[in-house]
Amino acid sequence: MKIIVLPGDGIGPETMAATVDVLEAASRRFDLGLELVHDVAGHDSLKLHGATVTNALLEKVKAADGLMLGPMATYDFKDESKGEINPSKYFRKCLDLYANIRPARTYNGMPARLGEFDLVVVRENTEGFYSDRNIESGSSEMLITPDVAISLRRITRSCCERIARSAFELARTRSKHVTIVHKANVLRIADGMFIDICHEVGRDFPDVKIDDFIVDAMMAHVVRAPQRFDVIVTTNMFGDILSDLTAELSGSLGLGGSLNAGDQYAMGQAAHGSAPDIAGQNIANPFSLVLSAAMLLNWYGQKNDKTPFMIAAKGIFDGVAAAIDAQEATRDVGGKLGTRETGEALATRLSTV
Ligand code: ATP
Repeated sequence: MKIIVLPGDGIGPETMAATVDVLEAASRRFDLGLELVHDVAGHDSLKLHGATVTNALLEKVKAADGLMLGPMATYDFKDESKGEINPSKYFRKCLDLYANIRPARTYNGMPARLGEFDLVVVRENTEGFYSDRNIESGSSEMLITPDVAISLRRITRSCCERIARSAFELARTRSKHVTIVHKANVLRIADGMFIDICHEVGRDFPDVKIDDFIVDAMMAHVVRAPQRFDVIVTTNMFGDILSDLTAELSGSLGLGGSLNAGDQYAMGQAAHGSAPDIAGQNIANPFSLVLSAAMLLNWYGQKNDKTPFMIAAKGIFDGVAAAIDAQEATRDVGGKLGTRETGEALATRLSTV
């Protein structure tokens, strides 16, 4: 399996280096023959190539089997005509990575303030309120007068159908429960359509229970009793916000692994941002990116019917859980190790299981 590795900005280089240690250990232990090809995106690419991402890089990614994208300083990238393209948007859009899968669970060794839970947010990734991806070119945000701005939200039948199917297929491998999160009391047409299509798709999965919540009420329900949820399917912006909450409720935003998957390509990417407040201090939690890498291995194994990749992914998931329990982790999850040492400890753990 050939993976393009792009460290990114802020805490990206540190967390990606730790992730690479873990991937290399997993490759040796499970005989995966991983080929990690290092390249640049974000600020490093802007300095080197005059753009945060390039067509040449996209072609390399298309020719590979997977992509690991580090956190990007998206807030810095404002003007596409100066090469300041949001790399996260670029790959999601160009590779049609429509399903953003964001699991959140509690771990032994950390206080579960809200009780134990294990859920997955399945977030639509290619339209919704994201003005830079719901339109063919340009942006769906407009400044009508200096004092009036409009942002458009796009919802389409085909995008609703495919994200709903991803959620139901995932639920079938878990506790067979899908929760639809929406704002159909206000966005009656668009979110009404989203709910209807989720129910239509759900008819193909009669063994999966369905319920739905309005997004604002959902914030209360998920904080009150996260264990009542299994798979949560929602539109782009709601999913982005909800999954940061569920990651933090699980113990730390630094545990939020995430996979962006389409029918042909996939990209592992931490749920959090570039965290400039803690960059360069060797304190960022690398597990979010490590878990994302394990999700990428699992996706590749499932797609190509290659069991060792699925076993390796499970080895990494279990290794992270054991490391947290043993406090071989960063401070945000109760450990005392630095970013680098956390990656090294997990790599050693994997080589000895
Ligand atoms: P960006 O502008 O790139 O989105 P941000 O700092 O606004 O960056 P996040 O990177 O998501 O947003 O960070 C939110 C908070 O969570 C910050 O206080 C950050 O330090 C913390 N955080 C994020 N990622 C991690 C991590 N891997 N380990 C520990 N703390 C983290």
